[in-house]
Amino acid sequence: AFELKGKRVFVAGHRGMVGAALMRRLAREQADLLTVSRSEVDLRDQAAVNAWFAAKRPQAVFLAAAKVGGIVANNTLRAEFLYDNLAISSNVIQAAHATRCEKLMFFGSSCIYPRLAPQPLREDSMLAGPLEPTNEPYAIAKIAGLKMAEAYRSQYGADFISVMPTNLYGPGDNYHPEYSHVIAALIRRFHEAKISGGGNVVVWGTGTPRREFLYVDDLADACIHLMKTYSSPELVNIGTGEDISIAELALMVAAAVGFRGEISFDASRPDGTPRKLLDVGRLSGLGWRATTSLEDGIRLAYLAYRADSDGRHP
Ligand code: GDP
Repeated sequence: AFELKGKRVFVAGHRGMVGAALMRRLAREQADLLTVSRSEVDLRDQAAVNAWFAAKRPQAVFLAAAKVGGIVANNTLRAEFLYDNLAISSNVIQAAHATRCEKLMFFGSSCIYPRLAPQPLREDSMLAGPLEPTNEPYAIAKIAGLKMAEAYRSQYGADFISVMPTNLYGPGDNYHPEYSHVIAALIRRFHEAKISGGGNVVVWGTGTPRREFLYVDDLADACIHLMKTYSSPELVNIGTGEDISIAELALMVAAAVGFRGEISFDASRPDGTPRKLLDVGRLSGLGWRATTSLEDGIRLAYLAYRADSDGRHP
């Protein structure tokens, strides 16, 4: 087992939804937590990353920094998603290796699996077929990062592991009207419609795609468990093992928000991949499973949205 207690633990991307959840969970581990703001070190800047690692010498790294977004962001900012994510992964992984970091966790994503891979998605489906075109640049960058972690393990013996989270949601999500993921988008749209007195809320696509959703604090708990106990080049999916259609999801979010108006679907918006459900057999074999139900998670996410202290979400 790998000890976090007493170690210098770097969370790259601590202001993001995943990084912030890792920080909350790591507060229970008696580790010496290291973070760095983007204005101090731009993780795309190789020289800055090398200098920071040489000075701080983290013993464990959670590589949760990434440029992320929903289906439109992925499909529009294609160059940024490819460049930023390739640069962040290769700079951090190489610097961790060069400074003899003891353990690193790389975060992939369920969109790295082929668009039409058998469901539920098993870890060995990676690179078995063509990717979903709307998020291919992001997926290619993430696959490169996974392969780096694997190669540094095989060539240098580095204890670098990779996890594959499913679609995530929760406190600290991005609520951008165009670039967010679906749960954040729907929370905001239903909330704003409720505030302005009901009416009609538009949901993108046909409502038929199916997705699996994991509450981000559950993800963080799984990651700490794996960081302590897992050491292998094999990827590990992290999800709930259950999926839901976007139409059913819209009803759940509307109920959680208390929206009682009409819901319609805009089929001119992209559906993306038809289904994305992870096979979580490997993860459950490693002794972890999700505990937050989708109803509870959406309720907690909506509370966090409303409590957002900067007042953007009254
Ligand atoms: P994806 O898993 O990469 O496709 O991530 P998203 O969270 O962006 O989208 C998931 C599904 O929700 C897709 O089928 C979208 O078409 C659908 N969806 C419905 N309404 C929205 C919305 O307002 N925003 C986003 N991002 N997706 C939506």
